[in-house]
Amino acid sequence: MPIASINPATGAVLKEFEPLSEAEIEHKLALATQTFTTYRHTCFEQRAGWLHQAAQVLDDNKAAYAKIMALEMGKPLAGAIAEVEKSALVCRYYADHGAEFLADEPVTTDASRSFVRYQPLGPVLAVMPWNFPFWQVFRFAAPALMAGNVGLLKHASNVPQCALAIEEVFQKAGLPEGAFQTLLIGGDRIAQLVTDDRIKAATLTGSEPAGASLAAACGQQIKKTVLELGGSDPFIVMPSADLESAIATAATARMLNTGQSCIAAKRFIVHEAIAERFEQGMTEKFAALVVGNPLDDGVTVGPLATPDIAAELEQQVNTCLELGGTALIGGDVAALKAQLPADLQNGNWFPPTILAALPPGTPADQEEFFGPVALVFRVASLDEAIHRANDIPFGLGASAWSLDPAEQERLMAELEAGAVFINGLVKSDPRLPFGGIKRSGYGRELGRHGIHEFVNIKTVWVK
Ligand code: NDP
Repeated sequence: MPIASINPATGAVLKEFEPLSEAEIEHKLALATQTFTTYRHTCFEQRAGWLHQAAQVLDDNKAAYAKIMALEMGKPLAGAIAEVEKSALVCRYYADHGAEFLADEPVTTDASRSFVRYQPLGPVLAVMPWNFPFWQVFRFAAPALMAGNVGLLKHASNVPQCALAIEEVFQKAGLPEGAFQTLLIGGDRIAQLVTDDRIKAATLTGSEPAGASLAAACGQQIKKTVLELGGSDPFIVMPSADLESAIATAATARMLNTGQSCIAAKRFIVHEAIAERFEQGMTEKFAALVVGNPLDDGVTVGPLATPDIAAELEQQVNTCLELGGTALIGGDVAALKAQLPADLQNGNWFPPTILAALPPGTPADQEEFFGPVALVFRVASLDEAIHRANDIPFGLGASAWSLDPAEQERLMAELEAGAVFINGLVKSDPRLPFGGIKRSGYGRELGRHGIHEFVNIKTVWVK
């Protein structure tokens, strides 16, 4: 089966690529291994120079790269440009701080000299998703390359042009040939690929089944993995909060990237004393969103990336409604399509939707909704809010709104998540570690912690 680039707004096939043959994969693995033997001995200054160059290439070509994203996975252009800029930022961040994070760390022991040294592992495989097709890759690649590893990218099959463009960024930046290569292959070939001794570790961002499959295959080979999987982040609003600010942020937190974000706020857990105003305010914000062709000015909501994502979301929403939930806005795909122009009729559309008054037992309780659908739950107390927030298999991020210091302390301490943001939306930041607990995965990306995932933390003891 060819790997196809399909415009999710129109259904038009943009380009098709033949997946790599076994011989082509062999060639790339051999090149990665060969390059590592010299790349690992380059100095931090040199690697930092290449990362600064990569950032420059991204900045210089941001309009072109953003357009590829918009065409391949439906991201509205303004968001796509911001994503290219953020990818440049993470390159610069590790270029500027990598040497400090990876410097020898002296430790006083019974030795005359003992210290910790961080050394690269070798070729690292990155299995990446389509939702932030540049950012997710660069947040892996910048620390991995700075640490002296070489990268192999297996990108999602619906974004092959992004995958090739990213490879081109590193080529243009002047990195040695083989330091970063794209493998155009399907996910079904990964379990076999990681049995190859030349791949030393792997990271995956995506769904639970894909993560479990990769981790199982790597486990068999005793290879380190980092997994960044799904989430159904809570967004708790207490009566003590600045309600208008919470409402304004709530819509952004849910709708960024047409709702296709692992750290999007998905479950809005709102105290009953302020729930009515919250629901009304959020409905107004959703009504103001503009659904349409991601290439058009002013469009804030694009199509979903694939027909499967749209179909699964529609089924989840329909089940919620059949079981007694209420749509405060949206929920009707046919009604949205009727308003769209003829050339967009074959796109993967879904209207901005808010579901409320959800009875127990709907998919909203335990499942992730990967699209523009907000789920609102009313609660009577902080205890109930925290209980509901934690009563889910995921533990990625959590946003909580309260101006009461005692409430804030409890939220920081008791929310089961890899990150808690008080009075702000959950976002990734190169300076802060990023990752989850529970079924949202393990390991961390970004910050000082992220660059230490794919290194040998070597203890050195000298008598
Ligand atoms: P997948 O997990 O299927 O895709 C993510 C990446 O994993 C792709 O590169 C994919 O390759 C690869 N992959 C798929 N199956 C395997 C496998 N068995 N072994 C190794 N790699 C594999 O995500 P989907 O696109 O199907 O999205 C489904 C759901 O995943 C979403 O609804 C959402 O819940 C979650 N998701 C979470 C993301 C996040 O940011 N945490 C991002 C994207 C999705 P290929 O494309 O070739 O199948």
